[in-house]
Amino acid sequence: MATDIEGVIEEVQSKLDIAEIIGSYISLRKAGRNFKACCPFHHEKSPSFVVSPVKQIYHCFGCGAGGDTISFVMKHENLEFMDALRILADKASVQIPQFKGSASGKSRSFASMLHRINEFGANYYNALLIGSAKANEARKYLIKRTLNADIVAKFKIGFASGEWDSLLKFAKTKGVSATALEKAGLAIPGKEDSFYDRFRNRVIFPIFDVRSKVVAFGGRVLDDSLPKYMNSPETDVYVKGRHLYGLNFAIEEIKEKDYVIIVEGYLDLIIPYQSGIQNVVATLGTALTVEQIRLIKRFTDNVVIIFDADQAGEAASLRGLDLLVAEGLFVKIAKLPQGQDPDDYVCKNGKDKLLEIIQEADNLFDYKLKLLLKKLNPALSEDKTKISSEMLPTIKRIENSVLRADYISRLSKALFIAEDALNEELSKIKLDYSYIGEVKKIKKNLDISPAEKIIAGLMIEDPDIAQQVREELRSEDFNSQEIRDIVALIYRMLDDGKIPSAARVIHNLNDDHLSYIVCEALSATENFVDREKSFKDCMLRIKKDDMICQREKLTGLIKQAEQQGDDERLMGLIKQLDMIKSERV
Ligand SMILES: [Zn+2]
Repeated sequence: MATDIEGVIEEVQSKLDIAEIIGSYISLRKAGRNFKACCPFHHEKSPSFVVSPVKQIYHCFGCGAGGDTISFVMKHENLEFMDALRILADKASVQIPQFKGSASGKSRSFASMLHRINEFGANYYNALLIGSAKANEARKYLIKRTLNADIVAKFKIGFASGEWDSLLKFAKTKGVSATALEKAGLAIPGKEDSFYDRFRNRVIFPIFDVRSKVVAFGGRVLDDSLPKYMNSPETDVYVKGRHLYGLNFAIEEIKEKDYVIIVEGYLDLIIPYQSGIQNVVATLGTALTVEQIRLIKRFTDNVVIIFDADQAGEAASLRGLDLLVAEGLFVKIAKLPQGQDPDDYVCKNGKDKLLEIIQEADNLFDYKLKLLLKKLNPALSEDKTKISSEMLPTIKRIENSVLRADYISRLSKALFIAEDALNEELSKIKLDYSYIGEVKKIKKNLDISPAEKIIAGLMIEDPDIAQQVREELRSEDFNSQEIRDIVALIYRMLDDGKIPSAARVIHNLNDDHLSYIVCEALSATENFVDREKSFKDCMLRIKKDDMICQREKLTGLIKQAEQQGDDERLMGLIKQLDMIKSERV
């Protein structure tokens, strides 16, 4: 058994095949020695995502995502490094020993520190709700909403009292600092080094990630004071729009039932959950993001959205749902009676009645069309245009051409318009994919010379080449800072007697941008016929470029020395320039 983290990583990666692992998340198509797919990290119609089983890396030419198996699982499952490693180690039947301290890197241990603080906070608020006299009102409120003790325990619901520093004081007795609480978003800095509790006099709902770690909190007031809801700020472990409330508790049931119910608020989820409807998640009032949709897509392709009557009447509130369709999900809309949310509805009518409403849900197309036909008159030309311009963008987003054709034919009948005309309009629609902006795009590296990139790629592919480069070039001889960093790391590995494999380099860089360059470098060298010649050419190019660069630098310094009349320095610089000129490459 490997005892250091690097050993574990290598053992895991050597036992697993990257194509098999990534293939279990998305469907891959064989393309030569590699596999291709549409990138799971940005929206695209033609595949630019490449998996290389030989190099054990993946790389997207579209958005710049790239890395090894661990980084794929981290990104795709939204996990921290150690958690992703654990999942993979499990698959590879590799045991992970207990690592002390910061073995897994600074940022990772910072994240787990935040998790610990959040857990600490959740436990404190929960204990207060259950045991403190100060929480009498809160307990009454939750009992009135029919919550039982089991559900309170499961969702770790809590209470923050009205004092300004109740959590801070308690944390101090347990050795948790105010700064740590601030980093986790639980305390706010006040005047002169003082802090106060962020949440006061509120019922507290911890927000969990998929792994059931507390990442943030929501607090609801008991009276009519404002704001009614208050959330944690964004931290290293909590980014708005990346989590779905309750998903961690719902996963099994979502898989079992093969659909997910989406509601808005904490209690809209908790009350139906308590009644036995457990394939439910909550958006916490915001529009669904691409990241949330992809999170759902890992467990099911079917979505039922529960709308209250107010939202249900508005075509505008449906437009956001086109995003789900674009991501390949089947969307249905369930409508509740006027003035009721899922929470009230289950309390008044019971679980079965809610299930009935869900069963009767219309798919997005039918729902939208019915709604529009109720408001507009398809016999009028103007209204026909209005209806078709609402319907066509939804249809356009459907990938399945049979389904698309079916919808066009139905729309044609509803509007008394020839299918050809609708198809013509459909072809004119340009979809707005600006939401992709949410996926961070890595800047393209146009300023790195191809020769430098190729050398870096070859060094990672072949340790002998790496050794040869080490003998001829210093890392500073490379022009681009990124390549310098990568080469310096490769040199350090050689010094430590380690082979700089792709996975190892990527892991040690621990940087998205640099990982991308490594992947780019590796794909640049992919189809070389004569590696030896390419290698020599590139080395020559780099040396020449370096020389030109040094010459320019020296010429500049010489001019400067001339202007300043510094003869001694001038002579030294001229000598250096002569030396470089006499060196032949
Ligand atoms: Zn991509």
